Amino acid sequence: MASPERALCVIIGSGPAGYTAAVYAARANLKPIVYTGPEPGGQLMITTEVENYPGYPEGVQGPKMMDDFQKQAERFGTDIRREMITKVDFSGPVHKLWTEGGHELHADAVIISTGASAMWLGLENEGRLARNGGGVSACAVCDGFFYKGLDVAIVGAGDTAAEEAQYLAKLCKNVHMLVRRDEMRASKIMQERVKNTENITIHWNTETKDVLGQDEVEGALVYNNKTGEESTIPVQGFFVAIGHKPNTAIFKDWLDMDETGYLKATPGRTFTNIEGVFVSGDAQDHIYRQAVTAAGTGCMAALDAERYLTEKGII
Ligand code: NDP
Repeated sequence: MASPERALCVIIGSGPAGYTAAVYAARANLKPIVYTGPEPGGQLMITTEVENYPGYPEGVQGPKMMDDFQKQAERFGTDIRREMITKVDFSGPVHKLWTEGGHELHADAVIISTGASAMWLGLENEGRLARNGGGVSACAVCDGFFYKGLDVAIVGAGDTAAEEAQYLAKLCKNVHMLVRRDEMRASKIMQERVKNTENITIHWNTETKDVLGQDEVEGALVYNNKTGEESTIPVQGFFVAIGHKPNTAIFKDWLDMDETGYLKATPGRTFTNIEGVFVSGDAQDHIYRQAVTAAGTGCMAALDAERYLTEKGII
């Protein structure tokens, strides 16, 4: 059997956090290896226009921005591998990682930047109509434009759903907000905005049985969970905004996380409970979840890793 590969610094994930960590780590001569995971570029690869990332005064397409991030990381010698880390062992001073292909690495420092993924309802037609671009989406800002002047539904009652309902209301004819309880979780101000928007109809105590349509969304089959009454709401777009799940399952035996799976970092730093393992980006942030905040914490993680390796006398 081949002996494990030795690395100073392995970065898991390739969104703004991972690539920023790579730029800093590579410039500090930590010779970082980035494992990009299944979605190289992270959540921004399914985003269209990004207008709030500083440095792009005219805005930029999400995939173009991630391509720029990657090129900048490569410019300083980052080793980028289109593979996934599927197992880790953080029991010793040297951290062990395995790829999906069974390749074993031993790293002195690990930076986790695995991000978060949108949650889905798990309905029969939902996945198919999301994958084929048939009208199911978990990102109103990415896909709302396609439903200009049409009727759409959005599931969820948190701040994301409220924000996205507002966004859709500016584009679409009618927005049906499907709320499973008789109250919303969103902040008061967001709730008020939604309630005061003429073309948003809130359907309380309403859950979705399925999305209707073969190749394109034609409606939402819903039921009232108080009365049991079923009905169909004709819509052309169906948006799911029920939260995000951090991609942290492989760390659950080693790292402290909250009940959703967000990794816990020392406040104001990127330290996890294991020495030499750092976390950045959405894997530890359920509050801001922005490209720029992810990039900021990626930078912090690389600086923390560099200091750690220096203090340990490894570099
Ligand atoms: P949340 O977890 O806050 O809300 C998820 C919503 O989805 C809840 O209303 C929940 O209902 C509903 N939901 C979950 N599962 C289902 C289901 N199977 N069927 C129907 N509805 C379902 O997630 P968000 O993404 O909204 O927000 C995450 C965090 O980010 C929050 O802390 C939020 O405050 C923050 N945020 C802040 C923003 C801002 O300040 N501008 C903007 C966006 C997010 P229920 O309430 O019944 O559990």
